[in-house]
Amino acid sequence: MNLRSKFIGIILAGILSISMTFTGCSSNTTDENSSNNSSTSTSISSSDSDASNSASDTTEDQSDKSRSNNDTLSDGDVQIHFIDTGNSDAILIDDGGVAMLIDAGDNDDERAVVNYLNGRGVKDIKYLVSTHAHADHAGGLDEVVKKCKVENAFVSNGDADTRTYRDFIMALSDKGLNPTVPLEGKKFKLKNSYFEVFNTNGGSTTNNESLVVLLTHGKDKMLFMGDAEEEVEYEILNKMPDVDLLKVGHHGSHSSTTDAFLDKTKPEYAVILCGRNNKYGHPHRETMRKLKDRGIDVYRTDESGDLLFTSSGNGIKTNSKKGDYNSGSNSTDEYSSDPSYESGYSESNSSDGSDNLKTVYWTKNGKVYHKYRDCSGLRKSKSVLSGTISDSGKPRLCKICEGR
Ligand SMILES: [Zn+2]
Ligand SMILES: [Zn+2]
Repeated sequence: MNLRSKFIGIILAGILSISMTFTGCSSNTTDENSSNNSSTSTSISSSDSDASNSASDTTEDQSDKSRSNNDTLSDGDVQIHFIDTGNSDAILIDDGGVAMLIDAGDNDDERAVVNYLNGRGVKDIKYLVSTHAHADHAGGLDEVVKKCKVENAFVSNGDADTRTYRDFIMALSDKGLNPTVPLEGKKFKLKNSYFEVFNTNGGSTTNNESLVVLLTHGKDKMLFMGDAEEEVEYEILNKMPDVDLLKVGHHGSHSSTTDAFLDKTKPEYAVILCGRNNKYGHPHRETMRKLKDRGIDVYRTDESGDLLFTSSGNGIKTNSKKGDYNSGSNSTDEYSSDPSYESGYSESNSSDGSDNLKTVYWTKNGKVYHKYRDCSGLRKSKSVLSGTISDSGKPRLCKICEGR
């Protein structure tokens, strides 16, 4: 499609990933004098590590004690842990002692993530996936690499020259690990489950470089979107099956989770990783409305903390507390026009209060409120009222304003 795809195609041709093992997870604190060298250029090769050879891998020393807090776990179950790190992603998949970690929270979450892994007896991470380079996903990865035994490190296709990402790449390099872009659609085996990765050719923004991971365990399918947005959803739409669980893209932002994507994937559970009162207003009300309209059960870390799902291969269960359909308390529609919000992590102008302080417009008999006084839906009305959203008493924003 473009130069980049060609480039990827060429490297896909033959490079094997390097898989190495190191000392196990330790919670010891070490000096973090990470070398702050000149810019690190990440050379990324593509992985063809065929995990099917490892089908018989078992982690012998995985003690049952480490999972004693889950009495209902039976042989062959796969656990999916959404670690509450605030408005950031950290997801542990434990398939009978074979572990995979998708992202590791922000820089200040790294101890929490390593402690969580230790608490679960996870010493060895067979697959470490960095969905994309943003700090709220890659921030804790360097510490995980330093403290755990990592076998394979998968990264997205793109450039990132941030301190956070350099720290991660340097940590890998210090352990002799070579990050690779996984092959699109290839099956990587855990123990009883396997995963495939989509969107490996990158995208137009860092969020849209997100690797999308589809985990299959028997009949159960779980889809992890990273921060992939609309652009990616349309690109991979035709490859998507019905899924049981969707880790909603980009913390529930309206930039992700299109109607078309939900209608194709038909999740039973939607998981949103977001922080209480985060400045982005995640999850956004458009997303919550789409989930509510379809009756999809929502689980969110801002309301319920750590979330744990168990897949038997014939259905997914959770004892975690179900969430509601409320949007984030700072949720406004202003973000869509804020270019700095695109990346999400530059200092964007956070909303200084609830969106109920903003002026909206409506008519007495209208069913919706309007954000714009000159909305075409209002133009013909003679008496336009104004005030806050709650003054309006209308349940939702006009579709025309929303699309503007
Ligand atoms: Zn991001
Ligand atoms: Zn993010």
